[in-house]
Amino acid sequence: MLEHTLEAKKLYKSAAWRKCRAAYIIQVHGLCERCKEPGKIVHHKIHIDSRNIHDPEITLNHANLEYLCQTCHNQEHHEKYSPVRQGVAFDEEGNLIEVGEIDGTR
Ligand SMILES: [Zn+2]
Ligand SMILES: [Zn+2]
Repeated sequence: MLEHTLEAKKLYKSAAWRKCRAAYIIQVHGLCERCKEPGKIVHHKIHIDSRNIHDPEITLNHANLEYLCQTCHNQEHHEKYSPVRQGVAFDEEGNLIEVGEIDGTR
């Protein structure tokens, strides 16, 4: 499931991504597009995987991006990737990160 992680790290370190991400955040005024709290993660609506990681139409396309706070991002990935256990979450680099109480989701 996380086989794309290495490739994803390269992507998220690239200048092209940084530029794309920064421009997108400005465009949405730095707010989570779901709950309007301050956002944290630029999420890809079509999740990045080993098949599309080299496709800029997916990775760098504003139409495929959504700016989310950590809570909304967790919810998004919990729904689709249930192996993530309570207390950890994905950041947008594909890393599993520890989180505090995510809750409100059960
Ligand atoms: Zn949110
Ligand atoms: Zn995401």
